[in-house]
Amino acid sequence: MERKSGSRCFQVASLFLLFLTALVAAKGQNPDRPRTLDVKHYAIHISFDRDKKIVYGDTTVELTPLSAPLNSVDLDAIGLKFSKVTMSPRESPLTYRTSDGQIAINLDRSYSPGENISLRFNYSITDPKKGVYFIDAEKAANKFQHPAQIWTQNEPEDGRYWFPSFDFPSDKATSEEFITVQKGEVAVGNGRLIDNVQNADGTVTYHYRMNVPHSTYLTSFVVGDFIKLSDKYKDIPLGFYAYADRRRVAGIAFSRTKEMMEDFEALTGISFPFEKYDQAMVAGFQDFDGMENVTATTLADTSVLFAEYPFGKPIVENLVSHELAHSWFGDMVTCKNWSELWLNEGFATFMEAAFREKAYGRANYIQTLIQDRDEFIADDAVSKNRHPLRNLSAKADNSLFDVTTYQKGGVVLHMLRETVGDAAFWKGVNIYLSRHKFDNVISSDLQSAMEEASGQKLQWFFDQWVYAAGYPKLEVTWMNDSAPGGLKITVNQAQKSDGMTPAAFQFPLDVTLLTESGPVLQTLKISKRVESFTINEPRPVKSIEIDKSEKILLKSVKIK
Ligand SMILES: [Zn+2]
Repeated sequence: MERKSGSRCFQVASLFLLFLTALVAAKGQNPDRPRTLDVKHYAIHISFDRDKKIVYGDTTVELTPLSAPLNSVDLDAIGLKFSKVTMSPRESPLTYRTSDGQIAINLDRSYSPGENISLRFNYSITDPKKGVYFIDAEKAANKFQHPAQIWTQNEPEDGRYWFPSFDFPSDKATSEEFITVQKGEVAVGNGRLIDNVQNADGTVTYHYRMNVPHSTYLTSFVVGDFIKLSDKYKDIPLGFYAYADRRRVAGIAFSRTKEMMEDFEALTGISFPFEKYDQAMVAGFQDFDGMENVTATTLADTSVLFAEYPFGKPIVENLVSHELAHSWFGDMVTCKNWSELWLNEGFATFMEAAFREKAYGRANYIQTLIQDRDEFIADDAVSKNRHPLRNLSAKADNSLFDVTTYQKGGVVLHMLRETVGDAAFWKGVNIYLSRHKFDNVISSDLQSAMEEASGQKLQWFFDQWVYAAGYPKLEVTWMNDSAPGGLKITVNQAQKSDGMTPAAFQFPLDVTLLTESGPVLQTLKISKRVESFTINEPRPVKSIEIDKSEKILLKSVKIK
């Protein structure tokens, strides 16, 4: 997902809540959700009554017990009015009850792990509060015009507002959608378009199928009167769904998708993992710029329009590359729970910079990351919700999508790259993605892959950058020693050690000494809160520069 630039949601937490959160985190809250079942497949049939804002659902969920026999099944469902629950294929009716955001279905007998249970749900949702959004057409000449549309937004846990599901990222299933729309409209869904069938009443049903398993939060559809721009990368069909009168700007926004795909394949060593890639612009996508619904990214129309202006070009490129990068980082390999969301968002943010490095060179890459760094440092100073990258106080709402998870995540991946070296980093990325293809991950999976690729132990790196918060605030003092041939440098780490932030980070620190006869590079090994170094430099030093090539990007430096 990509947050809207400049309008972030910050959770206003009371002191009591903060205290409670800290207490829970300190006690080692388990961020995983226990599972008694494994969903194998969702077949979702959806149709609409637009005037009354009703969604009609007919969803079959195929699942199997995981470790113990089950005689009842609990699934997530909020605001779904069920008319019938049956067991397929004979459609024998089952009894059920709904409460606390769940539907509990009594099975006809006990089922053992490995046995297939196929449950069919008929239901409707009137004026859905979340999950599905009905957007009216805007036709006023003085407003930004768009056609009527219906679209979904699940992440983090709003899929349950439109289909009964195990709505947590650790459960992956294949899926099928049958979306019935009015004549003249299209439906964009997940996976390959199998067919679109004309119905007797004039409506059309689009049938999409995802043949590889994905998390519930990536299921989506977009419905509206759109034109489709088409392209192809190797044998992957690419589509961009746009409003008919925005064809030109959509074409600009769409234009580099192919190149980004090629770059990301080259960098990760993993082919684009799905059968197609669509992007659709939608209206009213309020707090966010885009969402990486699997094979069917949703983009805010207001963000796509930036492509028209020179200043907006990088904004749209970053958005398109961010969402595309999620195909590998998030959609194919997915955070196991919300505390590990940085593995999705930090990587997608880092890959924005990686695309810029390919397209515009190293300086552009570093500049992109410096902006991310500065945004994080500004946020860290005022945030009421500071947390390590692995966020054990994560709550399944929009507070997940914060500057730490995105910007710090991206910057830390850059520092990991600097730590292990370029070749080992991309090899590690390849191991991480290959080993966990279509599966879920936690931070230690990334650590293992990087350790294997680099032959280095990286616990120290993950401890300070992933499992702890904050960053080093360096105060550097230096003087030419009174004894000839000596330079004394003292590095003080002045960050407040608050139980979440390390008192001393460890890192190699490049110091460039500017002497009469040119610059001299020295690398200091920093591991203590205050450390002094005496450097043998016979020529008088006029000034010093710290970490000129931004290896330790996440720091602040004051030279005294
Ligand atoms: Zn994202």
